[in-house]
Amino acid sequence: MYDINQVRADFPILSRQVYDKPLVYLDNGATTQKPLCVLDAMRAEYLNVNSNVHRGVHWMSQQATELHEAARETVRKFINAKSTTEIVFTRGTTEGLNLVASSFCDEFMQEGDEVIVSTMEHHSNIVPWQLQARKKGIVLKVIPMTDKGELIMDEFEKLITPKTKLVSVMHVSNVLGTVNPVEDIIRIAHEHDIPVMVDGAQSTPHFKVDVQALDCDFFVFSGHKIYGPTGIGVLYGKEEWLDKLPPYQGGGEMIDHVSFENTTFERPPLKFEAGTPDYVASHGLAVALDYVSALGMDAIYAHEQELTRYCTERFQEIEGMHIFGQSDHKDAVVSFLVGDIHHMDMGTLLDRLGIAVRTGHHCAQPLMDRLGILGTVRASFGLYNTKEEVDILVEGIKRVSKMF
Ligand code: PLP
Repeated sequence: MYDINQVRADFPILSRQVYDKPLVYLDNGATTQKPLCVLDAMRAEYLNVNSNVHRGVHWMSQQATELHEAARETVRKFINAKSTTEIVFTRGTTEGLNLVASSFCDEFMQEGDEVIVSTMEHHSNIVPWQLQARKKGIVLKVIPMTDKGELIMDEFEKLITPKTKLVSVMHVSNVLGTVNPVEDIIRIAHEHDIPVMVDGAQSTPHFKVDVQALDCDFFVFSGHKIYGPTGIGVLYGKEEWLDKLPPYQGGGEMIDHVSFENTTFERPPLKFEAGTPDYVASHGLAVALDYVSALGMDAIYAHEQELTRYCTERFQEIEGMHIFGQSDHKDAVVSFLVGDIHHMDMGTLLDRLGIAVRTGHHCAQPLMDRLGILGTVRASFGLYNTKEEVDILVEGIKRVSKMF
């Protein structure tokens, strides 16, 4: 286990006060704080080697290109992809999901073809498919879940038909914390020759992901949720798929040769990276991945599991507490309501105590409909949170509850 005080010192923002109270930051599911090494690396790049990548013959351009391509290798190693040609830089999870939805539908789906998602998806794995449904008439099918917040695997199998062309599911729910059985989903889908995309926005920050062991066809995540900068994310795609998919956007960087009569494209990953990439953010992301790797993903997992367990246990003391998401396979997220206190009231009053939690539908309105609620309060943990912070949260909830 790492030294939590030493780790917290790497994140100066955690020592700030809000409303004259020490900040208790429990909104890591939305975004994580950045360690000094990430901020320093990005500042140093802007100070010393800033130059557009891939196009320049001059020294600084080559240095910037080297950093950008080294970042691709760091990402490859982090998720254990076979090759850097399988690592596409995007703006984030949302862009990765939209890219695959758009390119995959263009090439492989006809009117009436089906894509399977789950009840608990984030809007970013629902709306891109609905946009395609409007354009092309594809059909969205939904894996149901139990009241505990677990996917019903028998029902998943029943949804598969000869028209199913892709399965796209989240690895970990940003609301319930459920760790979905993506290994089983991938195995079953592959038995029917159906590729699978995994939304790893909420898994990569919390435990080791190995895309080859998972055998997923596409995997997406966001830099800012794993202690890296905003504006950068990753789409992993098996080479055989990235080779077959058409480009998502056109412009510089992604072409082989352009004429007014005909244009040919670069090979992946550049085929999917039109325009100037955020090459400083890619470097920042690599530094963040090195940072979490040095702490150890297993150590981070163990620490956050303990926080989740401790929080769940202490919540039992609170009268009227209802936790959403009761799966045994759960990670770093505790969503709740207390009695009939509105989630916004709870969140706003906790904020006055210095406690940052998220409230609302968490970009998962169909899941809220399934749960029969409008929203929850969500505490989500990061590698730097402590049991003392959980105690402050529990006391805060008790104090707010007394006001109603
Ligand atoms: N998928 C899940 C499960 C998420 O939790 C989020 C963000 O909260 C997203 C996708 C979208 O991520 P981004 O806004 O970084 O693109």
